[in-house]
Amino acid sequence: TYILGIETSCDDTGAAVVDNGGNILGEALNSQTDIHVQLGGIIPPVARDLHRQNIDDVVKLAMDRAKLKYEELNAIAVTVKPGLALSLAVGINYAKDLALKFRKPLIPIHHMEAHALTPRIETRIDFPYLVLLASGGHCLLAAAQGVDQFKLIGKGQDNSPGEAFDKIARRLKLITLPGMQGLSGGAAIEQLAQRGDPKSIEFPNSLSKHPNCNFSFAGLQTQANYFIAEIEKQNDIKGPEVIPGVADFCASFQYAITRHICQRVQRGLIYSDMKELITTDKKQMVLSGGVGSNMFVRRSLEKVCKHYNFELVCPPPKLCTDNGVMIAWNGMERLNANCGVLEDESAIKLVDLEHRAPLGMDITQ
Ligand code: ATP
Ligand code: FE
Repeated sequence: TYILGIETSCDDTGAAVVDNGGNILGEALNSQTDIHVQLGGIIPPVARDLHRQNIDDVVKLAMDRAKLKYEELNAIAVTVKPGLALSLAVGINYAKDLALKFRKPLIPIHHMEAHALTPRIETRIDFPYLVLLASGGHCLLAAAQGVDQFKLIGKGQDNSPGEAFDKIARRLKLITLPGMQGLSGGAAIEQLAQRGDPKSIEFPNSLSKHPNCNFSFAGLQTQANYFIAEIEKQNDIKGPEVIPGVADFCASFQYAITRHICQRVQRGLIYSDMKELITTDKKQMVLSGGVGSNMFVRRSLEKVCKHYNFELVCPPPKLCTDNGVMIAWNGMERLNANCGVLEDESAIKLVDLEHRAPLGMDITQ
């Protein structure tokens, strides 16, 4: 069985073909990060235009690399939510046209479900498992109980960890430093943090009086902005110069975000034990989403998991950020589990069918 997956929910145009053994036969990705960083953030119509410009090449490249003809595909999977409406529409329309033209079933994919199931493509992970999705738009802790069954344990109450990284990277003007071009805010901070002292600046804890597993990153972001303004004032910085001790700052900020994530997840691990959410012999926790590619976050979370007898499983970094592979793989999982597959002639009206075949994901609610 071969499935083509198409992803355009945010600022990456991705496509990939996978088979039912989880082999990636061909993949292609066009990242817009560079352009959006220069513009100071994602502007939806700009993202849409770039998707439009690139989608044909990206899909064709993935198919060429897979050495497959469209006729040989068994289905086409495409991200339908959540994401930027203008960006999503480009992928959905493209996939719909292909599905119609080649009379293939169209499988609607929930982007966060795709992040959550990604590691199953190459590692043996059985349901149920815990999953932390830390990305550019979300922070979600859930028990994954099946391909389309997720029980939410905790969620971000304000902005996401990825957004906090991106905003602070911009505020720190990291893009002006050598070697930082083309990197996302999170990746830039991680790189600088490697030569900084994570204990040099102390950030306050968030939600410490809230005995649940929710997350909050707005306070850390505000505090970081305040600290940066203070340092700039002390050093009389008004122009494009970067603050002194920027590596220490990045290390401390990354540490604060990571500590918060770990504290909330720790409670989640205890809670999952109490409620016997994870019944498998080998207890596993998945970390996915763009922030999951951060090695400091991974190493820290691994320690917490180990303490509670959980094994931490992370997709390879490039499968943590957005990509076509995870969409194709989620299509395969849905096809195998027989859930929510749209048959060909009905594929024309994706929106109607979405109601008949609900995506079943409650973890973003
Ligand atoms: P969502 O998946 O919630 O819809 P998204 O698809 O935009 O949002 P992803 O592509 O999964 O998000 O992740 C992008 C985010 O990950 C960005 O905010 C980026 O800064 C962050 N990120 C990428 N690499 C790293 C890293 N090494 N360390 C920390 N954050 C990172
Ligand atoms: Fe994502």
